[in-house]
Amino acid sequence: TVRTRFAPSPTGYLHVGGARTALFCYLYARRHGGQFVLRIEDTDLERSTAESVNAILEGMTWLGLDYDEGPFYQTQRFDRYNAIIDELLAKGLAYRCDCPKERLEKLRIDQMARKQKPRYDGCCRLKQVDPNQPHVIRFRNPADGVVIVDDLIRGRVPFANEELDDLIIRRTDGAPTYNLSVVVDDADMQITHVIRGDDHLTNTPRQINILRALGHEPPRYAHVPMILGDDGARLSKRHGAVSVIAYRDQGYLPEALLNYLVRLGWSHGDQEIFSIEEMIALFDIGDVNKSASAFNTDKLDWLNQQYLQHAEPSRIARLLSPHMGRLDIDPSTGPDLADVVKAQAARAKTLTELAEISAFCYRDFDEFDEASAKKHLRLVAREPLEKLRAAFDLMAFEDWTPEQLKRVVERVAEELETNMGKVAQPLRVAIVGRAASPGIDETLMLVGKEATLRRIDKALA
Ligand code: GLU
Repeated sequence: TVRTRFAPSPTGYLHVGGARTALFCYLYARRHGGQFVLRIEDTDLERSTAESVNAILEGMTWLGLDYDEGPFYQTQRFDRYNAIIDELLAKGLAYRCDCPKERLEKLRIDQMARKQKPRYDGCCRLKQVDPNQPHVIRFRNPADGVVIVDDLIRGRVPFANEELDDLIIRRTDGAPTYNLSVVVDDADMQITHVIRGDDHLTNTPRQINILRALGHEPPRYAHVPMILGDDGARLSKRHGAVSVIAYRDQGYLPEALLNYLVRLGWSHGDQEIFSIEEMIALFDIGDVNKSASAFNTDKLDWLNQQYLQHAEPSRIARLLSPHMGRLDIDPSTGPDLADVVKAQAARAKTLTELAEISAFCYRDFDEFDEASAKKHLRLVAREPLEKLRAAFDLMAFEDWTPEQLKRVVERVAEELETNMGKVAQPLRVAIVGRAASPGIDETLMLVGKEATLRRIDKALA
């Protein structure tokens, strides 16, 4: 059965590139009825933090990328890695090296001067190094031959063993290195498909050699191309938000972000919207594009808008609530937030924006939108607003319904022998602060009688 893993290093938040890799791993496992494993690669003790682990777990949970096993932590498996290193040593597949730093540095400089790629020269291969003196352990890489990485995305990529030097697998301080621990874990966890960023492609022939030395068949590999910013450079903080949690806080829906991420480098005909079930049914790692894709916020906004509009209003209301809270609005003090969502969802790209344009339902605004006020309020006679105010004032609480309100506005327009717009727009600006809002009847309904009268008074003052 298929087993994939997502193996982030906890040195920062979960960024969108990592989330896309995790999504691909998740989809591939689900599609094939396999398992998806989460492994935290925290062996770099200086750079790994508990906050980062939490941020990764939080991001995975928010996105709904549930894993079947894990999280496993590499720091809890040092004994296992060391046992494997000892086994490699005993079999002569690894050796101790005590080359002083100065020698390695000189070697490097000489090689560079000869325009050669810097690589360890195997000086300690045949030496008896005293195990009680400081030393590293190196893997004895095959001297010749070619390692072919048969990549599901890149195709066959050959690497000459000559080019690969004897990799350090245990540092002087006794810590196993990245390439060793990954290999041991992928083998122990019976990973069948390693899906990861293509910055790891050059590690792969080394990992394959170690796996073979340990008597394992290597898994299949799929190296996913990186994500670029709009300027063509690798996506980074410079381009704005890159952390998954930042997208949540800006009011994106997890399903919209997932839909956006799956389309970065993958497509199915010209379909744009994919439910998670469709992604599982249709996604294949082999169909992922070889070339890098650029992050496009407009596209993400468009998708988020689609999802906001079509999701269950009560769910959106629940997600919107904290965004209202950030504007110091307690939604229980006004109309049902789900009704607000129904009226407004088509007008906002994010929950944050939805909260901003819905604030008028819960509190009076401070300032008119200048352009709207100029166009609809200042230039128009006071008459429509005065007439509307008088008519509204007479309405009973139970008559404050969209149907009745619409009739009142229509009647005032008739009396003034003008069109609906000439009456509804000034009214809208008076009670919302700007010329854009849902239908005037819905808007009046959401604002309520009391606030409507108060705001008309303020506009007339
Ligand atoms: N821990 C590595 C990283 O975060 C990934 C290693 C792997 O997927 O093999 O870049």
